Amino acid sequence: EKKDATMRTEEYKLEAVSELRFEVETGSDASVQLDLLEGMAEVFGAELTKGRQITFEEGAKVAVFTWHEVLLLACLDLSHLAGKTEVAYIAKETPMVMYINTHAALEQMRQKAEKEKTRGPRVMVVGPTDVGKSTLCRLLLNYAARLGRAPIFVDLDVGQGDISIPGTLGSIVVERPSDIEEGYNLNAPVVFHFGSSSPSHNTQLFKLLVSKMADTVNQKCDQSKKCCSSGVIINTGGWVRGAGYDMLKHIAGCFEVDVIIVLDQERLYNELKRDMPDFVEVLLLPKSGGVVERNSSVRADDRDLKVREYFYGLRKDNKDSFYPHPLHISFNDVKIYKIGAPALPDSCLPLGMKSQDNMLKLVPVSPSNGLLHHVLSISMATSMEDNILESNILGHVVITGVDMEKQMFTALSPSAVTPPRNIWLMSEIQFMDID
Ligand code: ADP
Repeated sequence: EKKDATMRTEEYKLEAVSELRFEVETGSDASVQLDLLEGMAEVFGAELTKGRQITFEEGAKVAVFTWHEVLLLACLDLSHLAGKTEVAYIAKETPMVMYINTHAALEQMRQKAEKEKTRGPRVMVVGPTDVGKSTLCRLLLNYAARLGRAPIFVDLDVGQGDISIPGTLGSIVVERPSDIEEGYNLNAPVVFHFGSSSPSHNTQLFKLLVSKMADTVNQKCDQSKKCCSSGVIINTGGWVRGAGYDMLKHIAGCFEVDVIIVLDQERLYNELKRDMPDFVEVLLLPKSGGVVERNSSVRADDRDLKVREYFYGLRKDNKDSFYPHPLHISFNDVKIYKIGAPALPDSCLPLGMKSQDNMLKLVPVSPSNGLLHHVLSISMATSMEDNILESNILGHVVITGVDMEKQMFTALSPSAVTPPRNIWLMSEIQFMDID
């Protein structure tokens, strides 16, 4: 345990149906340690255990909620929170009762599906940025897993996804509640490369990957009765206007959703009510007052933290839990592509071809300093004959050095082993490997 003069320990007594909220600053080494002293409490649907100290690290925005009375001990590292007086507060007003009722309704649909050997509820969560979409997904998944269900989680938020790093779409089967510190158990995830943090950068590719993801979900449901009756929870990004709204309709159609939960936006709710077929239930739920609004620079920091965590793991006790390796790779040993050619005016294209047709093209990227700091996805595809766009991703590397003379790359990789596949896809997302 740290015995620093700047550590302040405080006891919090929570009444039933209330939550302790706090935020750990980004870009600091600050952390908050939490001990459950008495009673039962949970963080976004995952239960706290007595005797296990939980550490929340930089960037964490947390609510510890209880249905009953509870006593908590929070140890706040104030060394980097100078000037901040209110780092933690208790809130009695939360939408948790409405959220839990939604969970109960979904559970009834699962029971019915189980009995009738049909499909469980497919739920899409939508709303603008920072309304708690990912948090609600986590809550619904954790509550389902706690009842022994195995819902499929599909994360289509390419900006702030919870399954892989930004710029990807992912899905997993959630058989156990997520760990409060470590997040979801990422057993056999399906991950597709998109390559940027907004679907608007390549709507054609995004649409293609959404329908491919829906296919993989249907396949999983065919293989597993349990998954099938447990249903699907789909998280989406915050792009809800114009073409973003059309994208939501595309997603709803591909996954044949039964329920759409709209967080916080009545206009979007009314639009979906108007446009969705009758068998789709559209619900409007309020956002929690605890959800922290992030401006675009905080969102960029959060993306950076996600990439950092992919390579370095969690920074427990100021130590990293993984040790990424520098890989040295010859230019000749990999083939790098990006998806989508720069848009040319139609007049420059061969007759009958539109610039749109280019957005699904694999474009070879020749080695150069331009690749520095870019995240690359390692495709499972083994040859150009495979459908590379729709292939699963094995993992990621970041290019940290380009030696044009020796014709070698240096790359940051979570593993010391040279990746067993040589088709790599370039992402627009960049990561600076500095501490
Ligand atoms: P969205 O997916 O809509 O962008 P998130 O679910 O990621 O929003 O929520 C934004 C941030 O707010 C997250 O860091 C999350 O941990 C935090 N948060 C959500 N609900 C609460 C709450 N009740 N109290 C404190 N922080 C919360």
